[in-house]
Amino acid sequence: MSGAKHLTLENVTVSFNGFLAVDNLSLTVGEGELRCLIGPNGAGKTTTLDLICGKTKPRSGEIKLGPVTLNDLEEHQIARKGIGRKFQVPSVFRQLTVRENLSVAHSRRPGVLRNALQLRRGEASEGLDKLAELVGLENQLETLAGHLSHGHTQWLEIALLLAQDPKLILMDEPTAGMTAQETHKTAQLFNRLKGNRTLIVVEHDMGFVKEIAEMISVMHQGKLLAEGTVEEIERHPAVREAYLGS
Ligand code: ADP
Repeated sequence: MSGAKHLTLENVTVSFNGFLAVDNLSLTVGEGELRCLIGPNGAGKTTTLDLICGKTKPRSGEIKLGPVTLNDLEEHQIARKGIGRKFQVPSVFRQLTVRENLSVAHSRRPGVLRNALQLRRGEASEGLDKLAELVGLENQLETLAGHLSHGHTQWLEIALLLAQDPKLILMDEPTAGMTAQETHKTAQLFNRLKGNRTLIVVEHDMGFVKEIAEMISVMHQGKLLAEGTVEEIERHPAVREAYLGS
């Protein structure tokens, strides 16, 4: 179950050279909720993630994290408020091991002094082991990141994000390029992440969406077309029309 409102978009509009990529979008995601954002290509999904993390600024409307308005904050200030984004292109250090990658990410999280103390007491290292286990990389801690498969690299990327302890995670097509088995394992991972943090996941793979989704928001031509459970979305006439074009 989702808690208090964590993220709110109110009547948000973005235009690129007069083209409305996001058109009067209102969206509310509860604390601890996993929200899937779906829609045909060009619907405005990635632009919506860009808006939340501050990469793109709205022409009008308001974006709020809890009670805090994000509109006028820079991208790095928004990141410091606890919003993390996973991009499709991995940003792991290929020449470092999985453990070393996790250490670097862990040292970047807020509360540096606390982390230094944790490191002395060995707590940080234990935290890294747990993180590796959470994403299924516990047997590859000493493997060079550059030697990981595509799926494992994506999981390391997710672990690097989690190491920084964001409260809201944005993911753009996390299963792109994965095998069916990797996609299924990623769904299991996401189901483990639910509840402790808020997740917004843009995804094309409806099989994956069905495995993880609580609530789905459907975008089409920059607008929110529908919102509901998997069952509600699947039988929604406007959604069927947007996808099938009939
Ligand atoms: P989706 O993620 O749903 O496929 P996007 O948010 O990437 O859609 O794009 C929505 C629309 O906005 C598309 O028509 C795209 O071409 C356009 N768009 C996105 N970013 C830019 C940009 N920086 N400049 C111009 N047009 C853009």
